[in-house]
Amino acid sequence: MTSNATSSGKTVASAVRDVFERIYGDPLKQLESLITATGLPVYKDPKTGALLWVDVRELRLRFTLSVNKLEKFIEGLRGGKLMYTQCRRCGAKYFPPQVDCPRCKASDVEWREVSTEGELVTWTVINVKPASFSHQGDYVVGIVKMPDGFNITAWIDADPKTLKPGMKMRLVVDRRPGEGYITYWFKPAF
Ligand SMILES: [Zn+2]
Repeated sequence: MTSNATSSGKTVASAVRDVFERIYGDPLKQLESLITATGLPVYKDPKTGALLWVDVRELRLRFTLSVNKLEKFIEGLRGGKLMYTQCRRCGAKYFPPQVDCPRCKASDVEWREVSTEGELVTWTVINVKPASFSHQGDYVVGIVKMPDGFNITAWIDADPKTLKPGMKMRLVVDRRPGEGYITYWFKPAF
C-alpha cells in the first residue's frame, strides 16, 4: 500500500506488541510507584475525588477462530484469490463466505472466485485507529460494490482526495506491506 502502511518491515505481531508496550508501559510504572508508596493500587480520581482501585494483573485477550470449514478461503488467499460462497439450494451469495446458509439453512455451498473489479460506493479515512492497527498510518476503508452481487468492505490504497463514488476499483490479494500478512484491499483500477 502507498504511504499509509508501516515501512518498518516488522511482522504484525511484533508491531502490535510494541504499541501495547508504548500505551501501557508508563501507567504500569506509575502503578508500581503507587504500590511501593502506599501498599495498595488505590488512588483518588483527580476530577471526581472518587476512590479507584487499579487492577495490578494484566489481562491479555487473544482469540483463536476455527477456520476449519473455510479452508478454501484460506487456500484462495495463499494463491492470490478471494473466494465467496453461493448456496446451491437458494442461490444466496456470501462474502465473507459462509458454509451454512442463514437464509434457507442448507449447508451445501459452491466456492467461487470474487471478480477482480468493482465500483467504489463510499469510503472514510481512519484517523483514530483501534490499538491493533495503531502502528499504521492513517488509512482509508471503503465499500466496493462487486458485480458478483455483494459489497466488500476493505482498505483502499489511494489518496482519499482522488476518490470518487462509482470509480472502478481493482481487488488486490497480497501481503500487506510492512506486515507480511496476506490480506485483500482495493486500489483504483487505472
Ligand atoms: Zn440457501
